[in-house]
Amino acid sequence: MTESLPRCRHCGTPLSATLVDLGRSPLANSYVEPERAGIPCPTYPLHARVCPECFLVQVEDVVPAEEIFTPDYAYFSSFSDSWLAHCRAYAEQMSARLELGADDLVVEIASNDGYLLQYFVQKGIPVLGIEPAAAAARAAEARGVPTLVEFFTAALAERLRAEGKAPALVAAANVLAHVPDINDFVRGLSILLQGDAVHTVEFPHLLNLIEQTQFDTIYHEHYSYLSLVSVERIFAAFGLRVFDVETLPTHGGSLRVHACRQEACHRESPAVETVRKRERAARLDSLAGYAGFERKVQAVRRELLDFLHAARAEGQSVAAYGAAAKGNTLLNYCGIGPDLLPYCVDRNPAKQNRLLPGSHIPVHSPDRLRAERPDYVLILPWNLREEIAAQLADLAAEGTRFVTPVPRLEIFRP
Ligand SMILES: [Zn+2]
Repeated sequence: MTESLPRCRHCGTPLSATLVDLGRSPLANSYVEPERAGIPCPTYPLHARVCPECFLVQVEDVVPAEEIFTPDYAYFSSFSDSWLAHCRAYAEQMSARLELGADDLVVEIASNDGYLLQYFVQKGIPVLGIEPAAAAARAAEARGVPTLVEFFTAALAERLRAEGKAPALVAAANVLAHVPDINDFVRGLSILLQGDAVHTVEFPHLLNLIEQTQFDTIYHEHYSYLSLVSVERIFAAFGLRVFDVETLPTHGGSLRVHACRQEACHRESPAVETVRKRERAARLDSLAGYAGFERKVQAVRRELLDFLHAARAEGQSVAAYGAAAKGNTLLNYCGIGPDLLPYCVDRNPAKQNRLLPGSHIPVHSPDRLRAERPDYVLILPWNLREEIAAQLADLAAEGTRFVTPVPRLEIFRP
């Protein structure tokens, strides 16, 4: 039987190489109402492939973005303290660097509930959010952030330009990895950026994903896994260039790329060549850099299952913290259900009293941990491990230990 290969969403090359095949998985944010516990979730292939031509790592867009970002989409950015501190620092830095004032405009793509733009508003800088999820957009408007309830596309960029909108800064925190039609999106940026206007975009750095076996950051809504080598190629195809890059600790290690039109005045910072060199050293510009990843992923699964089986055999209790997308990839790939992990807790009320997709592990409020005092707390969003361990310091003082599954299983106390 021959199966035709999917093609690269940027350059159209057949995707003949695999980073990791995680089998079939439900959508990571499709939380289940308890009364539907008996009904299996629909599952879709979760297979990350590498383009041999432009080195964009990608999963197929099995589900249209319109089905994922529904009006009641259960994700609000403002729930993480460390993320908000990161956003405030960004607003300070960019308004100083670009000397932004009352005559300028800052646009954010996928502005969610206004978590980032609120800090520009506080400085008296006009803003415009673009956010397809209506509930998040309403929350943004309520905090004084004007928001268009739309997906960002090249067509929208044309319209904004025709309306005379000329932003000095177009921010996109973590959106480039989440757009199925990356070419239309970057074409839209090239339309919106005029003169010396700057675009910044953040994305989890593929180099960290590979070096630290962060395979649980792979899920259906996360269409592309980006490196500087692939982003520079994609931007160049639409007349844009990268002139600066920062490395950030967020999401297990991210890059914030600063881009502009080819002909804009910004000089390239030495940081760009530094990151290019690191990626070349890791051979991300050839298929060799992507081989062998799947074996490391299988080792993570083995270690986590061994730990959970041993805990159960010894009568020790384990609970999970953080109903994040990455937890769902991990639990479903490892085949972990309520028999090994009876419940998960999360601070977000929209996720509480529902079941995790696929694994059907119930989600409760963090109060449950205080009531039950488990022997171990498995921290699923390991990128927030310090913050979560600090929130649970009272439990640690009474003997609870914390566990993180990647890059290798680690048991610790704060
Ligand atoms: Zn490609």
